[in-house]
Amino acid sequence: MFHHPATQENLRLLRERGAELVGPDAGRHASGDGGDGRMSEPETILGALRRLLGRTGPLQGKRVVVSAGGTREALDPVRYLGNRSSGRMGHALAGAAIAAGAEVTLVTSAPLPAPYGATVVPVESAADMLAAVERASRDADVLIMAAAVADFRPGTARPGKIKKQPGQETLTIELVRNPDILASIDRPGLIKVGFAAETEDLLDNASDKLRRKGLAMIVANDAAATIGSSESAAHLLFANAPPLSLPQLPKEEVAEAIVEQLVRIVSERA
Ligand code: C5P
Repeated sequence: MFHHPATQENLRLLRERGAELVGPDAGRHASGDGGDGRMSEPETILGALRRLLGRTGPLQGKRVVVSAGGTREALDPVRYLGNRSSGRMGHALAGAAIAAGAEVTLVTSAPLPAPYGATVVPVESAADMLAAVERASRDADVLIMAAAVADFRPGTARPGKIKKQPGQETLTIELVRNPDILASIDRPGLIKVGFAAETEDLLDNASDKLRRKGLAMIVANDAAATIGSSESAAHLLFANAPPLSLPQLPKEEVAEAIVEQLVRIVSERA
């Protein structure tokens, strides 16, 4: 039915009149048939509406790069060193920035659905993430590093699977330092936002990172309570404004609050 000339002609007319189409997807239909013409998932339709309604929002015309997820550092072809980051904060930030009118590139290692309208660059390791973030940031206005980047990676990723030897009780793996993506990307005019997940001296460590990495804003939260969780209680620290503490909120609402502050920073720089 979707490919029928009458349906196609009606769709052409709707597009000509300025209607934005969402889907359809391919897959199983309610009638039991399959193929093109399946209604898009409700989340996709909501995402499309969010983008459409935000098109003329305060970040209209701004390019925002968001990184998300924990990097995976290969030990061998089947194993990696990773962390408990879910990627949820970064994906929520990408959605909130799109809803404010931004053009968003999401560099992500998380197996999560991406918000509608984001340009997605899937990555795995810190090295992949550095290359992708560098490329995407060249013409960006804002870089938000929500990713949990591994500080170290195995010095050599072995080409074959590491085998345990008879009688072997220990395995020593040498780790080497990864580059700091956020600190290394520095272009005049690029607004940088970082995250600090700490287990101690939260605010001191966060404000040190804010200065050291040349950030406009840093989002500080308790590492154990936030990583892998759907909620967080964040403190927002700024280069040029007093700090702001948020209550415990779902990460989607934390993302809205961060984007609200970003809008202020962008407008102050304009
Ligand atoms: O790991 P650290 O607490 O220093 O992370 C603070 C900020 O720096 C985060 O926004 C993180 O995404 C970023 N970072 C980075 N590259 C690293 C380590 C951290 O961009 N190698």
